[in-house]
Amino acid sequence: MAIRALFSTQIYTAPLGSPRPAALNQQLLLESLQLRRDDRAGRAWSRSNYPGGYTSYNSLCQLQRISPSFAQLELRLARHVARFARALELDLRGRRLAMTDCWVNIMRRRVVHGLHLHPLATISGTYYVRTPPGCAGLKFEDPRLERFMAAPPRRVNARMPNRAWVTLPAIAGQLVLFESWLRHEVPPNPGAGERVSVSFNFSWF
Ligand code: FE
Repeated sequence: MAIRALFSTQIYTAPLGSPRPAALNQQLLLESLQLRRDDRAGRAWSRSNYPGGYTSYNSLCQLQRISPSFAQLELRLARHVARFARALELDLRGRRLAMTDCWVNIMRRRVVHGLHLHPLATISGTYYVRTPPGCAGLKFEDPRLERFMAAPPRRVNARMPNRAWVTLPAIAGQLVLFESWLRHEVPPNPGAGERVSVSFNFSWF
């Protein structure tokens, strides 16, 4: 007999990589915290759209264009995105995948980022800058969920490929990439310390 896993949903994780990843990470952390202090519009937007947290999503969402550190991050992320695109066997037809957006998220305890996807993008992801012990991970949802209808639930201890939801841990210095149509969320952050991450989109041009 044969059982085939078809139509797989692939998720890429990796450490950001050389050179001097710790130094770049430290710089990104400093700039992220400074951004929150300077970005009045972002703080105001976050008050109504990201309660308890700060995101520059609606105010400064192309940080790679204004900060050399974020531009450096873009360079390194682009290599991972290219590798992921190859693994997905995307036929880019001579067009390229380029970063369109890059923004900061700071979540203290109990801050949540509800289920969403990233419209108009091809590959999205997050790079983790600071992840206090026990902080929330990234929860992905099976894209076929609405088709399951009367299907029985999966066992609680089902293998990861068979689960309807999978949460991957947030690890500082690491990144996660996924196709932008894949729905995901950050569950309420149980950790006491502030979780800092940089999210981004790459689109096909
Ligand atoms: Fe997201």
